[in-house]
Amino acid sequence: MSDCPVCRRALEASDAVCSRCGVEVKNLLALERAARRLILSGIELLRQRRFAEARAAFMRSLALRRSEKAARGAAVALLCAGSFAEALRSRQKMP
Ligand SMILES: [Zn+2]
Repeated sequence: MSDCPVCRRALEASDAVCSRCGVEVKNLLALERAARRLILSGIELLRQRRFAEARAAFMRSLALRRSEKAARGAAVALLCAGSFAEALRSRQKMP
């Protein structure tokens, strides 16, 4: 299955609550899945050279869940569209 989005403990499919940190996992896991789907969709849009839509998908993923993959994807979409300075700035803003 997957890991707890908060403490990363391995979860069983039937777990509604994480046995380590006590967080209710269902909605958090749904958010993580949505964020992952948006990253996959961003990658597919990059392949199709639809850079603005790809960046939008990565940014929506970032809004759901901060991740290096989505941040990198958003920067790649900017680079592919020729916005080098903006891509560089977006990477420098990352924590
Ligand atoms: Zn946990």
